Amino acid sequence: MTRNDESAARARRVIPGGVNSPVRAFGSVGGTPLSIVSAQGAMVTDVEGREYVDLVASWGPALLGHAHPDVVAAVQEAAARGLSFGASTPGETELAEAVVDRMQVGGVAGIERLRLVSTGTEATMTAIRLARAATGRDLVVKFAGHYHGHSDGLLADAGSGLATFALPGSAGVPTVIAAQTLVLPYNDLDAVEAAFAAHPGRIAAVITEAAGANAGVLAPQPGFNAALARLVRDRGALLILDEVLTGFRVGPAGWWGLEAAGAEPAWVPDIVTFGKVIGGGMPLAALGGRAEVLDLLAPLGPVYQAGTLSGNPVAVAAGIATLRLADADVYARVDAAAEAVASALHDALEAAGVAHVVSRAGSLFSVAFREGEVRNYDDARDQQAWRYPPFFHAMREAGVSLPPSVFEAWFLTAAHGDAALERIRAALPAAAAAAAQA
Ligand code: PMP
Repeated sequence: MTRNDESAARARRVIPGGVNSPVRAFGSVGGTPLSIVSAQGAMVTDVEGREYVDLVASWGPALLGHAHPDVVAAVQEAAARGLSFGASTPGETELAEAVVDRMQVGGVAGIERLRLVSTGTEATMTAIRLARAATGRDLVVKFAGHYHGHSDGLLADAGSGLATFALPGSAGVPTVIAAQTLVLPYNDLDAVEAAFAAHPGRIAAVITEAAGANAGVLAPQPGFNAALARLVRDRGALLILDEVLTGFRVGPAGWWGLEAAGAEPAWVPDIVTFGKVIGGGMPLAALGGRAEVLDLLAPLGPVYQAGTLSGNPVAVAAGIATLRLADADVYARVDAAAEAVASALHDALEAAGVAHVVSRAGSLFSVAFREGEVRNYDDARDQQAWRYPPFFHAMREAGVSLPPSVFEAWFLTAAHGDAALERIRAALPAAAAAAAQA
């Protein structure tokens, strides 16, 4: 028994499945999950003392690489001043100002107000409550394969762990709640139009990942988000743009920033949700939007939302430091590293004769073992997914830690320098051969 095996066995005795989030369980790739004891830059170290080049990056937050010294120093300084006060702090205003500033693109304000919460799940859950309050309507549209956290109404046909474990939704969600969610195919505006026609005056919001990245990477078709924003507004509903994964990761103003720069006419979502990078690895997330919508939140308005640890000062310090450091050079490095790994991945699979497509959305990418573009969840599931486990384990043997599911994006960081990229390149041919033999 290895020390990872011992660690997992011990965990399983007291923690359901041995994990605190299902995707960590290696459910679809098999084998024993790594038990991580430390991480630095592009590397993680497991309980056996083995180092891996990390392409999970805490599922997104580690944009700068793990344990950036300036972020760690900011956290230590904040912790020394007190862990939580249950009161307002100057830091939370500073973080909100930084986010509002960053979400100004080409003179267009992406958001005017920001409320801090602790998880992406809370951010999207509150966004939906706000949209219902703002419109006086009940129904919510989401897209198949998109993941917006684990609140009752948003698990239908969701990506992430539900894609990995092939679950259509979750037990324990009352039918009356599930019935409030309409699930549509992604990248299909006609389907959205048809849903509004079928339920006139009843749809409060359409929620969409800014770029789909939870059923593998599913980029929006060019113009899809802008047309969706117009359609949704025209029908009197709100557009919730979920940037929990993409926000401050694919660019300084998230995916919206990439699209909004130069978009004519400008389009602005009604509510934007953030998580992951905004907290620099600490539990912090947020929702932002137009003042007239966000000001419906208590204490100004009738929509209730609260949190003992919301705007936690230590998490806020990590977020401020991370956003301060995430400059143009960081995004250029992450983009270059993503390009290097995505093209090496393509080359290795091509050389091994494995049918594949590397789907890209900015610096996010994933592999699907199929031919042809991946536009929606049906496409993503229509692949030779069984090729991924041997590929994954061959990479792990060679010291590269990949996301333990073919339905997850690979995450690069600004700390993935030449040595890390070389180790990935060196590992790929044997992994591609393993995928070919599967
Ligand atoms: N929205 C998106 C797009 C996500 O990728 C995630 C998490 N992967 C969430 C929401 C939920 O965030 P959290 O895990 O912090 O609740």
